[in-house]
Amino acid sequence: PFDVLVLGAGPAGASAAIYAARKGLRTGLVADRFGGQVMDTAGIENFISVKETEGPQLSAALEAHVRQYDVQIIASQKAAKLVPAAQIGGLHEIALESGASLHSKTVILATGARWRQLGVPGEEEYRTKGVAYCPHCDGPFYKGRPVVVTGGGNSGVEAAIDLANIVSHVTLLQRGAHLKADKVLQDKLLSLPNVTVLMSALTTKIEGDGKEVTGLTYSDADGGLHHIKTDGVFVQIGLLPNTDWLKGTLDLSPYGEIVINDHCATSVPGIYAAGDATTVPYKQIVIAMGEGAKASLSAFDYLIRLPVQ
Ligand code: FAD
Repeated sequence: PFDVLVLGAGPAGASAAIYAARKGLRTGLVADRFGGQVMDTAGIENFISVKETEGPQLSAALEAHVRQYDVQIIASQKAAKLVPAAQIGGLHEIALESGASLHSKTVILATGARWRQLGVPGEEEYRTKGVAYCPHCDGPFYKGRPVVVTGGGNSGVEAAIDLANIVSHVTLLQRGAHLKADKVLQDKLLSLPNVTVLMSALTTKIEGDGKEVTGLTYSDADGGLHHIKTDGVFVQIGLLPNTDWLKGTLDLSPYGEIVINDHCATSVPGIYAAGDATTVPYKQIVIAMGEGAKASLSAFDYLIRLPVQ
């Protein structure tokens, strides 16, 4: 059995595995794919100390760093079920999708998240070529250019306020008849001079010139089609944590995020969680890495406090 079994090999999982191995713990890493969401990212300019990098490059560096250590990598596998230990100090069981089972004294859940997609033509084709999901990450790429934000909840309205500071003009499209964001955010949004808000506007297509996004089509409440010229479309209709398989095993928030405390401990002793799959505020690479380190150090703390057998 492992001392520490890490599930997910994105920034959080890679960091957790390195920290555990550096403590001399028997460490396993279930790696569906190295890099996680980072693999889907083009330019990265906010990974502090690295002025500029690209997703595949950072993912390869993560993998190379993990492979420097004595980490048993269980590649191309996903966890399907977690059976927590019956008592503190007992072994947790992880069933893999392949049918195999792994056992470990501690588990670090780092299965990440995925952005909810619009599911319209052009979205997949122009992903990272004008279709963006993270204003903190990609906002500065659109400096002085027009963008569209889809989604009128807190994340969409926050994104529109944020982007309005950087870009030339923001058009926010809300599918329903009302914005769903907090009132203070709505007031702030409506006070901005370079923002247009359109209600009952359903995005039907993202258009481009084969290389980059050039516009978007939406339908109004009567089904009439309208076209907007834009350089970027920020899709802000929700982040879905990869935690469906954990339902009923440990505490999840109403959004499906794994509830953690300030030590990355979950509601089950010996099980920790880090990164985008958790309730940690702000989903970013530097944050996920910090959280992975924290979860591993907490697992170490738990292990050294187990009674001598
Ligand atoms: P993830 O990166 O989501 O990794 C989780 C991994 O776990 C994945 O490989 C997944 O396949 C795997 N997994 C899922 N389910 C299971 C399972 N059951 N068993 C085992 N493994 C599983 N952040 C920045 O800081 N700067 C940026 O410029 C930036 N740009 C971004 C651009 C895009 C297009 C996207 C989508 C995100 C961007 N982000 C950026 C956000 C950043 O990528 C995430 O915050 C970060 O990757 C989260 O790391 P994580 O390890 O928690 O999760």
